[in-house]
Amino acid sequence: MPIYEYQCNACCHCFEELVFSSNAPMPQCPRCDCADVKKLMSASCVRAEGIPTGSGGFKAPACKPSG
Ligand SMILES: [Zn+2]
Repeated sequence: MPIYEYQCNACCHCFEELVFSSNAPMPQCPRCDCADVKKLMSASCVRAEGIPTGSGGFKAPACKPSG
């Protein structure tokens, strides 16, 4: 069974989901229960906590929670 990565458009939370068939419905975000998620094509997952910049600081993630 393939495992796909998804990212929530509402809170940017990344999660993995077992997909049993190609026409399976999109899962819900386990963090905020939002159904507005997108499938990620690779493991290049942006952490919601921020990206280490290597200089002791953190760069803000590209997308922010709405509201
Ligand atoms: Zn979410």
